[in-house]
Amino acid sequence: MSGGHDHDAGAGLRSVDEARDGLLAQIDVLPSLELPLLESFGNVLATDLVARADLPSFASSAMDGFAVRAAEVANASMEKPTSLKIVGRAAIGHAPEVAVGSGEAVKIATGAPIPMGADAIVPVEDTHTEGNHVLISSPAAEGRHIRLPAEDVRSGELLVAAGRRISAPEIGLLASDGFARLPVIPPPRVVVISTGDELVEPGKDLAFGQLHDSNAYAVAAAVREVGAQPVMAGIVHDDPAALRDVVVQHSHAADAFISTGGVSVGERDPVKAAFEGRGEIDFYKVAMQPGMPQAFGQIEGKPYFGLPGNPVSTFVSFEVFVRPALLKMMGRRELFRPEVTAMAADELRGPVGKTAFVRVLISRGQDGFVCEPTGGRGSNLISTVTRANGLAILPPGVETIHAGGEVQVMVFRAMED
Ligand code: AMP
Ligand code: MG
Repeated sequence: MSGGHDHDAGAGLRSVDEARDGLLAQIDVLPSLELPLLESFGNVLATDLVARADLPSFASSAMDGFAVRAAEVANASMEKPTSLKIVGRAAIGHAPEVAVGSGEAVKIATGAPIPMGADAIVPVEDTHTEGNHVLISSPAAEGRHIRLPAEDVRSGELLVAAGRRISAPEIGLLASDGFARLPVIPPPRVVVISTGDELVEPGKDLAFGQLHDSNAYAVAAAVREVGAQPVMAGIVHDDPAALRDVVVQHSHAADAFISTGGVSVGERDPVKAAFEGRGEIDFYKVAMQPGMPQAFGQIEGKPYFGLPGNPVSTFVSFEVFVRPALLKMMGRRELFRPEVTAMAADELRGPVGKTAFVRVLISRGQDGFVCEPTGGRGSNLISTVTRANGLAILPPGVETIHAGGEVQVMVFRAMED
């Protein structure tokens, strides 16, 4: 999200930008390590990599044919072919054995180095061989079908910038320049904890009043989508000591923690009870809907995100606070989802004095993007997120956007998904 969505958030509430900036300021990039080229796939490049050599490093033929002197075939035609003496061949992977002198040609394969003296390639289709002579039936301008050294990348140029997620094209380019190992920032290991006496693992039967733990799975999937690695710590009951135990148990293998639930004021809220007043974690309210209560701090130097428990609050909080933070830890340069301006197809409403993130479905209309709400505003209505691909942002001063009005929408998945 760009700045300026929020103005005065009101007493005791932090604006979304203030909360997110404060949190991001406490996030450090993880240390880098070196991995073999292929193992680096999916990791983030830790430093700029500069070309060690010209790519390609030598002039080569782009066609099977004959290396010639352009000036000597300038008048060649079907009717009056130019006859040249074949003095040798240029093979792939070898320095040419011979040079092309006056009245001469060298047979050449695609990818073979250009012999000295030649400045053009005549494709084999435009030639006819008779004994040790070749008849050239079309002219070839100087440089024709010759791949020049450094036409792709020049030595010293930036090959791949730090912060880039390494995928197939980057691996190919870096292999071309001889890189066998890369400095990368590996995916952060993110411990995911659900809190609540009412929670039961999916796959187990529910007694009345219980519900399946959905947050841990949704958060873990979102962590994967960012390119990080979730570690499922399971369900912790509303017991502050149990929560502290789980956090301590996992802290050796964790780069960050995310818990859901238990950050409100209720006396059974375990995150608050476990960590409040110890100076590690800050509990605060953000002027946003959904997702008002938030907790953030460091446990043994590792970021701890305490998200509110309602599934939609969890989702929105992850999008607004956790995702950019994980991307920052991974050394990514672009931390935020893209935003588009869309026309509201239906009225969009938010609360007074808060930033509303309204679940919407964006589509392409005749004059640009159109968005419509995907259902009710309740922060327990997770099905409304599955039908959405964007969060429309209604800043604190805007309670209503009427049908036909424009709104900024944060796009959280591709429209065709
Ligand atoms: P809390 O923030 O702990 O007060 O939880 C707020 C609401 O979210 C309650 O109705 C919880 O039952 C629900 N909730 C909390 N954690 C989860 C979870 N892991 N999966 C599904 N619902 C949850
Ligand atoms: Mg709870």
